[in-house]
Amino acid sequence: MQIKSAALDIVCGVTSKLPDTGQAEIAFAGKSNVGKSSLINGLMNRKSLARTSSQPGKTQTINFYHINEEFYLVDLPGYGYTTASVNVRQSWGRMIERYLKTATNLKAVFLLLDIRHAPNANDKQMYDWVLDNGYTPIVIATKLDKIKRSQVQKQLKLLRDTLGMEKGAKLFPYSSVTKAGREEIWEFIEKECLN
Ligand code: GDP
Repeated sequence: MQIKSAALDIVCGVTSKLPDTGQAEIAFAGKSNVGKSSLINGLMNRKSLARTSSQPGKTQTINFYHINEEFYLVDLPGYGYTTASVNVRQSWGRMIERYLKTATNLKAVFLLLDIRHAPNANDKQMYDWVLDNGYTPIVIATKLDKIKRSQVQKQLKLLRDTLGMEKGAKLFPYSSVTKAGREEIWEFIEKECLN
């Protein structure tokens, strides 16, 4: 994918009306700190367009990044802050649910998981929730550079087994440090989401 332009086009708060972009949308979900901003920046070839290391309690928004004025990468708010208030957690859930249920141009939902750890209950819930809304989550195993090469297959299997992923379900290892996996993810998006 040649990135000709990338811009944060739309920011939706809890009560905002969700946009009808009329163009393909590709969404990214994951626990806070999993590397979601880094991935989105990496895909866009931008250093810091997507915010990194968002703080707990920070305003939860859905951010739409317009790529080449042709489609959108959609950054869903991160989950899993144990310190977040019940209110924040509830509004987060409602916002994501509203998006998954009403988005008419949503082509795929990527779920990010840290390659080093077994998915926890929140991750599993998110995976099942995306499934329940009619999308098969595409898993991205982040921070690939943090483990030894000899551990990669074992960790990928752990992610697959814990989530109960189907045999053919897609799983991409990715590192925002080396950018390993970037081409494969773009190739998938181009083939499966942008036709
Ligand atoms: P977010 O909260 O999911 O958006 O996560 P960030 O993208 O802000 O990343 C959280 C932290 O993990 C930051 O300190 C990043 O520099 C670091 N990080 C993210 N991706 C990678 C990666 O692939 N490899 C390494 N080594 N660190 C990463």
